[in-house]
Amino acid sequence: MQADKRPLRFVIIGAGMAGMLAGIRLKERGDTDFTIYEKGDSVGGTWRENSYPGLACDTPAHSYTYSFATNPEWSAFYAPGAEIRAYFEQIAGRYDLKSQIAFNTEISSCRFVDGRWRITTTEGCEDVADVIVAATGVLHHPAMPDIPGLEDFAGPCFHSARWDHSVPLEDKRVGVIGNGSTGVQIVSALSKVAGRLVHFQRSPQWIMPCPDLKYSEADKQVFRDDPAKIEEVRNGPEASARRARFTAAIIDLESPELAEIQSIVERNLRESISDPKLREKLRPDYRAACKRMVFSAHYYDAVQKPNVEVVVGAIERVEPSGIRMKDGSFYELDVIALATGFRVDQFVRPMVVEGFGGKSLDAFWSEHPRAYYAVTVPEFPNFFLLNGPTGPVGNFTLIDIAEAQWAYIDQLVDLLRAGTCDAVAPTMSALDEYEVRRTEAAKRTVFASGCRSWYLDKQGVPQVWPWSYAYFQEVMKRPKLEDYALMQGQ
Ligand code: NAP
Repeated sequence: MQADKRPLRFVIIGAGMAGMLAGIRLKERGDTDFTIYEKGDSVGGTWRENSYPGLACDTPAHSYTYSFATNPEWSAFYAPGAEIRAYFEQIAGRYDLKSQIAFNTEISSCRFVDGRWRITTTEGCEDVADVIVAATGVLHHPAMPDIPGLEDFAGPCFHSARWDHSVPLEDKRVGVIGNGSTGVQIVSALSKVAGRLVHFQRSPQWIMPCPDLKYSEADKQVFRDDPAKIEEVRNGPEASARRARFTAAIIDLESPELAEIQSIVERNLRESISDPKLREKLRPDYRAACKRMVFSAHYYDAVQKPNVEVVVGAIERVEPSGIRMKDGSFYELDVIALATGFRVDQFVRPMVVEGFGGKSLDAFWSEHPRAYYAVTVPEFPNFFLLNGPTGPVGNFTLIDIAEAQWAYIDQLVDLLRAGTCDAVAPTMSALDEYEVRRTEAAKRTVFASGCRSWYLDKQGVPQVWPWSYAYFQEVMKRPKLEDYALMQGQ
């Protein structure tokens, strides 16, 4: 490697999985002049913020690690959330990241002035950087439901990402609103604890069955002795086939792969729920995979327990002692948990970001967040997003996605290191062309096949990567420099 012509200072925003990745990669390259700003008090991002009962990752644990830091110690095929958080803590230690993380420090603004980014924290401290890596996460700002009377509820009421562990749930009457991946995990866990548990569903979900496989000490020893076994779980024929099947299903409504997914979830419902009335209550009226697939080995058992009731329909209002449905029925409750998802169009916001000439990212994103191949934004030079808008979502591992994006970003940063240019940003026409192509393809995906989900923007167009996963990996290999403005003397 040649010596860099221009030493660069980096600011990374967020010490979750993606921000830590950026820090590790920079250190490996010898780019030691960076700070990771983290508004929380520890690393791990979503795995720090979420601690609700039943928290787990429904992506196989061995696939949910950095490619360069696999972990033979996972206790199960699907790892519990606390273990994943511990993994990120351990990685922060192993790569000595903490000395470069400013914890409890929130960035309020980043402004590109005279060729460098000027960064201000909410406490009024300032920093300067050549490059910003925004790794702020997507599922991050809790979405509070606009249900009338929520604030009048007499008992504890909290969002799934703000779980109040001081509230006892044993033998209590607990209501859970929402049945995405989070609500389904919470209900599966609380069915063993609550005196009475009511699961409020505005629209039912298809449930994909999955193994409840724990790893024994002997299994772990196999993984310790032979890393190829871990690689097999990550990228072996079964994992590759699963990824290919899933992408084929997403992008082609007529595909046999989507038909197969549909038949698996229908069979799961038919064979798991014995009461025909409950079965029909739980049957969605949209296609499988339209919303993010919910995987669960336990949910259908949980809702058939005598202490659990499923209520499907619209909530009229919350009253001090419980929840009133539109049909007039009333459910008395001691505690309400809101598994109502996240405001996913925020990304780096509410942070103020201003590019060339004071151009506001908030204004540029007023319709919906846009980024060229999910990574860069015109007129916001040397500003890179990890897991930004329109990247692959759904049931892929975001770690693999961030690693592929970093490999792409690093090549653009190389242009700055080598002095080829002082500033790099995609052209507006490149972003426009990408967005036209992406939007057309997105309208043909299963995500647009007729359901409400967090993938959709205000116009109902999926804000996602609408092509195959293989194509994503292909385009991340090398930036098309003709789509970039390489600028000097900014
Ligand atoms: P979500 O998928 O957005 O689900 C939100 C739920 O709240 C939906 O059931 C929605 O109903 C309901 N809801 C929202 N507003 C409501 C209202 N006013 N009244 C009644 N119901 C309302 O959120 P999530 O479950 O937190 O999951 C978000 C994402 O986090 C997932 O898609 C996934 O990417 C990630 N996640 C991953 C895992 C994992 O294991 N890997 C686990 C948890 C979460 P409608 O369906 O009718 O809109």
